[in-house]
Amino acid sequence: MKWETVIGIETHAQLSTRSKIFSGASTAFGAAPNTQACAVDIALPGVLPVLNRGAVERAIRFGLAVGGNVNRRSVFARKNYFYPDLPKGYQISQYEIPIVAGGAIAVQVDGTEKSVRLTRAHLEEDAGKSLHEDFHGASGIDLNRAGTPLLEIVSEPDMRSAQEAVAYAKALHALVRWIDICDGNMQEGSFRCDANVSVRPQGSATLGTRCEIKNLNSFRFLERAIEYEVRRQIGILEDGGAIVQETRLYDPDRDETRSLRIKEDAHDYRYFPDPDLLPLAVSEQWVNEVKAALPELPQAKRERFIAEFGVTPYDATLLTANREIADYFATAARDAPGAVVKLCANWITGPISAKLNEGGLDFDPANVRVSAQQLRRLVERIVDRTLNNNTAKQLFEHMWHTLEISVHETVAVSDAIDALIEKHGLKQISDRGEIERIVDQVIAANPQQAADYRGGKEKAFNSLVGQVMKATRGKANPQQVNEVLKRKLSSQGA
Ligand code: ADP
Ligand code: MG
Repeated sequence: MKWETVIGIETHAQLSTRSKIFSGASTAFGAAPNTQACAVDIALPGVLPVLNRGAVERAIRFGLAVGGNVNRRSVFARKNYFYPDLPKGYQISQYEIPIVAGGAIAVQVDGTEKSVRLTRAHLEEDAGKSLHEDFHGASGIDLNRAGTPLLEIVSEPDMRSAQEAVAYAKALHALVRWIDICDGNMQEGSFRCDANVSVRPQGSATLGTRCEIKNLNSFRFLERAIEYEVRRQIGILEDGGAIVQETRLYDPDRDETRSLRIKEDAHDYRYFPDPDLLPLAVSEQWVNEVKAALPELPQAKRERFIAEFGVTPYDATLLTANREIADYFATAARDAPGAVVKLCANWITGPISAKLNEGGLDFDPANVRVSAQQLRRLVERIVDRTLNNNTAKQLFEHMWHTLEISVHETVAVSDAIDALIEKHGLKQISDRGEIERIVDQVIAANPQQAADYRGGKEKAFNSLVGQVMKATRGKANPQQVNEVLKRKLSSQGA
């Protein structure tokens, strides 16, 4: 039997407000335990929550960015459960009426585009943290995280493979950073995913029983956990067993998921509207203001790069991976001819990305040691044939290591780069006479290879080209070297 995988993802994105969702305590990460938990966060009797406007504003921004419906009236509810890191005995969340309903995220997998529908996005507070190490058989409780604002984003069960799930999570991660509502720091837990996974016979219209894998905080873990879970469920079903709906944890060391607890149903939480908080009213005017202030969104920018700059869909996806890359590319390519635009795109997705990857760095202007204007100049010097690919790469190394980045002085940038080309003698050699002279020397010094080529061995030709390039330290115009060599070899052989 053929099985189909079905995945829905719940994501907790920590909203980047300075203070908590219902108190004035700081949300900064990494402080000493319990130094950032105030009376509201530790739930002393008699305290009252006061809603943080900045958290609501970020949720509105999200709702608009995914094309969802921002509810003009939503309701906070108490989700009741006991855990030591939840001193109130309930978490304030939204249940029946969330702030955002619907919307969708566009994802690209293997060159095909797909839209993953969103069910909802709601505001809630985070719980504290239980610390199980360093306490000699006991657990410590750190309430610094209690009350940190979260946006829980729930997808429809629209994904059909681990790759699609990862593409969705990456697109969502990029979006929340793009619209500046979450820092996206996965190590610190600012963006974490729960994957709901089920399988069903191919062609079946009903959903299988799902398991929920909690708190996946890297894309790789998300992918591996789903792959493991799909294998596990198919194994059970093919042995005639049944899936138990439960919450599971992924153990990266053993690359497996393990049962944590039988999953609660919603009614177990005894949700009810929080009497301490009025329904949240969002005015039309506020929504319009937030809408007017939204930046151009990744999807729109991607389409514009394709239409306006003639970038391939694949490159356009890479160039809109985050706002910094997109701005960098747009600056480098502004008003440039097609050949320059294409090469700018190639250099960003190629050598520049490679450099950053080497250092494990994000594409952040602070990490990119060549400014957009400098890259533009380098590319123009390739297009006007001052540089060939070899010398351009050498120049790029010099630029990366020695140039000061001065973003605004376009003229000075050009001069600085031309000076660097002079200083390191990187000008491509396109002088016909000089190339002929070197080709003659190389043929004279390698009679065997010349004979081999004339005898029909193509490989010998490449070796001769290599010798010429070596003799010119990579600076000869490769096209001319090819032409001249071919001509000389055939005429001398005749
Ligand atoms: P909760 O997990 O809080 O009970 P829901 O029942 O709304 O919440 O479902 C949470 C997530 O599980 C959603 O992303 C939804 O798309 C997904 N989901 C629901 N049923 C299935 C299923 N049978 N297989 C895979 N995913 C599912
Ligand atoms: Mg869930």
